[in-house]
Amino acid sequence: MDCLFCKIIQGEIPSAKIYEDDFVYAFRDIDPKAPTHVLIVPKKHISSVNELEAEDTALLGKVYKAVQTIAAEEGIDKTGYRVVVNTLSDGGQTVAHLHFHLLGGRSLTWPPG
Ligand code: 5GP
Repeated sequence: MDCLFCKIIQGEIPSAKIYEDDFVYAFRDIDPKAPTHVLIVPKKHISSVNELEAEDTALLGKVYKAVQTIAAEEGIDKTGYRVVVNTLSDGGQTVAHLHFHLLGGRSLTWPPG
């Protein structure tokens, strides 16, 4: 499958990995928008939120456990952070493999653009 994040997960394209378990792979965004900007990616290829199925419920729990672990390791769990899932074109999604942006390390503005 010609998917950038599948290739990163499989090690075919290098990445700054900061977390991995059986279900989730996380690495630093190549174009960070905050002092901490990590992409948390299910290893299972799911194109977007729209393709999530009932059987993926537990996987989403594992993603958010990874969010907790990484936020603590990055030292942003006490100050706060944001988890963003851009979806399709109006949502700003540019890579068609479901991913969760973990942003923190500065005061984030609201609403996003
Ligand atoms: P989206 O726009 O789909 O929500 O997020 C895709 C993210 O992937 C962007 O923030 C972009 O900077 C990041 N990205 C795109 N290509 C690469 C890459 O090759 N390596 C890494 N580490 N991040 C990438």
